[in-house]
Order: sequence, then structure tokens, then C-alpha cells
Amino acid sequence: MNSTTLTEPVQVETKASEILRIFNVQRQNQFKIGNTSASERIAKLKKLHTAVLKYRPQIKEALFNDYRKHPSEVDLTEIYPVTSEIKDAKNNLKQWLDGESVKTPIAMLGSSSHVKYEPKGVVLIISPWNFPINLTFGPLVSAIAAGNAVIIKPSEITPHATAIMKKIVTEVFDENEVALLEGGVSTSTELLKLPFNHIFFTGAPSIGKIVMKAAAEHLTSVTLELGGKSPTIVDQTADVNLAAKRVAWGKYVNNGQVCIAPDYLFVHESKKAEFIAAFKKQIETYYTEDALQETSYNRIVNHHHFERVKGYVDDAMSKGAHLEAGGKFNKSQDFIAPTLMTNVPADSKLMTEEIFGPILPVFGFTDIDKVINEINSREKPLALYIYSKKKKNINHIIGNTRAGGTCINHNAAHFFNTNLPFGGSNNSGIGKAHGLEGFKSFSNSRGVFKQHVPNALDMLTPPYTDFKQKIINLTIKWF
Ligand code: NAD
Repeated sequence: MNSTTLTEPVQVETKASEILRIFNVQRQNQFKIGNTSASERIAKLKKLHTAVLKYRPQIKEALFNDYRKHPSEVDLTEIYPVTSEIKDAKNNLKQWLDGESVKTPIAMLGSSSHVKYEPKGVVLIISPWNFPINLTFGPLVSAIAAGNAVIIKPSEITPHATAIMKKIVTEVFDENEVALLEGGVSTSTELLKLPFNHIFFTGAPSIGKIVMKAAAEHLTSVTLELGGKSPTIVDQTADVNLAAKRVAWGKYVNNGQVCIAPDYLFVHESKKAEFIAAFKKQIETYYTEDALQETSYNRIVNHHHFERVKGYVDDAMSKGAHLEAGGKFNKSQDFIAPTLMTNVPADSKLMTEEIFGPILPVFGFTDIDKVINEINSREKPLALYIYSKKKKNINHIIGNTRAGGTCINHNAAHFFNTNLPFGGSNNSGIGKAHGLEGFKSFSNSRGVFKQHVPNALDMLTPPYTDFKQKIINLTIKWF
């Protein structure tokens, strides 16, 4: 890698006049793009695929410069999700574009109906910094598959990632089909004034509300991929070593800056000591005794977020929390060691805010219904994880909680299956991404009805008579 210095955000904003120019150019081109065949869209996706692989080394370098992301982790969590999304769309697009024939009720005899998935038009993708490539190009694949013109606004916090994405987008697409605009809040705010046909936003729930309010001005549909606190439960039947291994990966991959990271964990009292011991051992297996020296361990993205997460830990410690592992900080490197904490008070920031960093609060439990009540007293999580060998326990937890998605005996892995809808519910999001669901998010399901021969409705037009009323009565009764 070229550089060992981390980058602080640089503010490059796109001018309002330029935003409007590109928006208008795309609006004029939208039907041309919308009328492309499956093969033409697949050709575009192939070009994107080729470019992502061509620039794979530069993408790795960019993410190393942004927050010292390990190249293998870039492959696993940035490149693979994009290439697998492209493969899924390539394999299924012809079928998706065929739409679906639907049944005809007897009362409508003589007609046929089908659903045609048509592009929404000109769409906006606003993405976050924590998986900048994955969470920008992933939705882009769905938007292209659905036949839209796309404006992308990535996060200003990972400027190296934005720069390489801009290079790729400019190389692969004309600006009248896909354009990447650099900028932060100001550019985002300008973009949100425009009457897009869909907005796909990934970021914090608080910003999701701003996006949705702006969208409401134009009655623009939204997909909101938001965050929150995703709980994990390890019950008395769980394989503790396996749980420790997978939770430690899910918590510390990308330095805990993951929307679906296990945010806090409940472990059955009978297994608590064993879990903590196994978890500590696992941290050392992944990152050695001194994670500061370990290249597999990323950094917090910038000083602001370093101070935020450190502040959460300091706050909890001042209120009586106990450090089981980690708790080491290095400000000059935005480094926070893999940390495990117990006795974390409910009113501490670690438990009132989404942590989004490498800190795991662990709580013991004996009564699963108390755990369920605790989870349900909070906002609906983006994910909920269950480690258990007992089907009855798993079903009880799933049946009595709500979450965007769930893994059983794993965490975060559901993101990688493009056949599963991905997204939250209420505070953790609106709408779904990935595969067919992502394609549908960027499509209007146009109901198309075709009349072949005269039907009952033709006989039931004004003037209404007793005879027509009898037919109406029979229709309501029997059909
Ligand atoms: P963020 O909401 O601060 O920023 C996301 C995007 O919104 C950026 O492009 C940013 O420039 C823009 N933005 C920020 N403030 C804005 C404003 N006032 N008006 C208009 N646009 C604005 O989020 P982040 O810090 O980049 O990412 C972290 C959050 O995203 C966490 O809450 C995390 O859980 C969530 N997240 C969710 C998913 C998911 O798939 N559900 C994935 C990753 C991250």
C-alpha cells in the first residue's frame, strides 16, 4: 500500500447548477435507458464488473488510505458483494423483465393481466462511508438492472473510495445514464430538492428522516437502509466457542463500523463465564495480543468517530462498567482495541446509541422473556442474532421479536445471500435491497390489463336497471 496516513474528510461540493444540469440531461435520456433490453443492461453490468476487477488494486489502496482496511477484507466485504450482486442480476434479469402473469377473476372473464416491472426513471443513490464501494455499487447494480438513470452521491468521509468510484463510473458510463457527484451535506441537500423518481438512501436513521421529508415534497418513493442497535442472544444450548468465534468476527470486522454488527449481547448466565473466556481467546486468535500492530485490524474512520466511540466507553466506565478485554486507544492512529465490557449501565451512551465501533457490551440472563421485553422496548433492529441449538427457543425468540433480518448461529452473514431481502423495518429502514428485491425497489410494478372479448362490466354501465342490479348482486355474491 502506498500510504500509511489516514485521511480526514475533505469537503468537495458539487455546484447546484451542475447538479441541475446532470439531472435534466438524465431526465431527457430516461426513456432511452428505460427501453433497453435485458441484454443491453447485462452488457452494462458486465462493463461495471470488468472495471471493478480492473481497479481492484486501486480500490484496495483507496480503502487502506481511508481507514486502513485490510486488502482481504476489501475483497470480502466490498468487492465480492458487488460482483455477486452483478452475477445475480445477470443470471436473472431476463426473467425479471418478463414480469409476471397474474390470474383473472371469473367476473373479469375475457381479459388477461400481467405485471410489468418498469424503471422508475431518474433515481438518486446516497451512500455512507462504512462500506463505500459495496453500498454504492450494490444499489447501482439494482438501479441499472431496473433500467434507470442514476445519480450517485457517496460519502464525503471516505474521499479515496469516492475518487476511485468516480474514475470507474466515468470510464464505464455516460453522464446521461450514471453520474457520480462528489460532496457532503450541502450537495446532498441540493440533490434532495429535485423531483427524483426514487431515492435509495443508506445511512443513519436521523438523516433518513431528513431524506424522507425532502422526498415527501415531490412524493418521491424511498428505500431507506438505516441502522440501529442489533442485539445478539446466546442461549444455554448454544455452542459457546462457535458463538464467540462468529460474534468476534461480526463485531470487529471493519472495526465494528457495520450497520449489522452485533451491537450488544445477552448470554445465558450458565454460559457467561465460558463465553467471555472464549471471546477473549478469539480476539487474540484474530488480532494477536496487540491489535495496534496487526494489519488485519482496521481503524476508526476519522478523529470525530474515534472521539465519539471513546466517549461512549469513557461514559460507561464512569458509570461503573467493567472492561473484560481491550479498552486501549491510540488517538494518532484512530485505533481502538477490540473491546468487551460487562456491567454496562442501561443509561450509558453505549446502550442508548448505535455503537458503530469495536466495543461489545455483554449481559447475562436467566429469563429469555426479560431479554425479549428489553429488545422490544427499543427501536426495531436492523438485525437480530440467535445462537442456540434448540428449535423451540429459536422460534420463541423469532416469534416474539421484530427485526429487519436474522441469522441463526451466525451474524451479518445474511447480507451475502442475494436471494434474501436485505433491509430494516421502521427505525432501521423502509424497503429492501439485493437481488430481485433490489430490482423491485427501483421498479414500478405496472399492472397491465388487457380486454380480449366483451366482459361483464360492459353490460353494467348506466342507465342502471333492476336487471343490471340483479347481475351486480349475483356478481358480489358468487364472484
Ligand atoms: P450518514 O447518515 O451520516 O451519511 C450517509 C449519507 O448521507 C452520506 O452520503 C452523507 O453525505 C449524507 N448526509 C449526511 N448528513 C446529511 C444531511 N443532513 N442531509 C442530507 N444528506 C446527508 O451515515 P454514515 O455515518 O455515513 O453511516 C453510518 C450510518 O449508516 C449508521 O447508522 C449505520 O447503521 C447506517 N448504515 C446502514 C446500512 C444498511 O444497509 N442498513 C449500511 C451501512 C450503514
